[in-house]
Amino acid sequence: DGLDELARELDREHVFHSWSAQANPSTLVIASGRGSRVWDHAGHEYLDFSSQLVNVNIGHQHPSVVQAIREQAELLTTIAPSTVNLARGEAAKRIVGHAPSGFRKVFFTNGGADANENAIRMARLHTGRDKVLSTYRSYHGNTGAAIVSTGDWRRIPNEFARGHVHFFGPYLYRSEFWATTPEQESERALQHLRRVIEAEGPSSIAAVLLETIPGTAGILMPPPGYLAGVRELCDRHGILLILDEVMAGFGRTGRWFAFDGSGVRPDLITFAKGVNSGYVPVGGVIISDPIAATFDDRVFPGGLTYSGHPLAMASIVAALDAMESEGIVENAREIGATVIGPALAELAERHAAIGEVRGEGVFWAIELVADPATREPLPAAAMGRLKSALVARGLLPFVQDNRIHVVPPCVVTADEVADAMAIYDDVLRTALEGEG
Ligand code: PLP
Repeated sequence: DGLDELARELDREHVFHSWSAQANPSTLVIASGRGSRVWDHAGHEYLDFSSQLVNVNIGHQHPSVVQAIREQAELLTTIAPSTVNLARGEAAKRIVGHAPSGFRKVFFTNGGADANENAIRMARLHTGRDKVLSTYRSYHGNTGAAIVSTGDWRRIPNEFARGHVHFFGPYLYRSEFWATTPEQESERALQHLRRVIEAEGPSSIAAVLLETIPGTAGILMPPPGYLAGVRELCDRHGILLILDEVMAGFGRTGRWFAFDGSGVRPDLITFAKGVNSGYVPVGGVIISDPIAATFDDRVFPGGLTYSGHPLAMASIVAALDAMESEGIVENAREIGATVIGPALAELAERHAAIGEVRGEGVFWAIELVADPATREPLPAAAMGRLKSALVARGLLPFVQDNRIHVVPPCVVTADEVADAMAIYDDVLRTALEGEG
């Protein structure tokens, strides 16, 4: 308990936190972890159904990834990006091994924001065009172009980059298009994007940047035909398609990439998070051959001191090898289809406050409403009570707006899911008493 108190005191005194006013800091101390569980110094246990920021896909402290980082640290902890390094080549080879054919190169960044930043830069230089289209319901990171591409509220105090245009993507539960079926939603969302492209001037648009499945915005599953329709619109006008797989990629959906099986081939893919489960900060852009060729003889005007950092590279190699040999992506797919999905459907039947559950793999959202008929979102105060009650019951939740995202590591077991469901059930019953 002494260490937990010391950690809180130091944090309160000296640490400046993301996305928050600083006066009321979090008091949740995490000191260690294993698989889908984490502990404070005093040994209080939490089931991690957030995967932190939806990035710890392989679970906490996977032994072979920890070992690979240790071994690389003994050999060489850092090296300039201009050098040739074996770990970097091995990491890039494994990443493109999961991409469609026609992708052979990877540019490594420090995380997801700068992955999108550099993908946008490549798209602009490759096309000679300026504008980037992205959706209002999106999060693409917190640097210059990435935060202005972002649609949610975090863009608004940060609009210093130019050339960004936003549109509405499909979201049937709160349709912007008066749609009542997934087919209608898909068709009308595409018609809306077609009109935005025409009105902006197709030849001024470098890229459409999309999260394959918008994550933080609510795990918004694209309806049938939507991604293919966006690809078609891009092709018609020489616009590049950048798919942001930072949150959805590397196992989260039960597939290596969320777009796998959709028949859609992007021009650039951005990744981070699940590629090494965040054991060392890293992200990157997977570049299709024609765009890579643009920079064969032309200087690419971008770089980072830590591009392809050896500790990150070693952790990618070990993480992807373990995910493959241990069937971790398959586990995410199976447990999503046979355990999490059915359990959430049952939960929704028991609680009127659940307006919708949606998702796949280990990527699910519970959308909470004050009134199922009007779909009015559950107010922030009630969401706050739910969040506190979940933590008090030993479950780390991912709470965003009026939603609980059920996003455990890909290695989660059926027993852990059952424990979590019992906690969600109990907390929804008790914390919402007197509500709605
Ligand atoms: N893109 C998506 C879809 C994300 O979910 C995130 C982070 O949550 C980012 C980009 C930004 O990644 P990072 O925080 O590593 O910069």
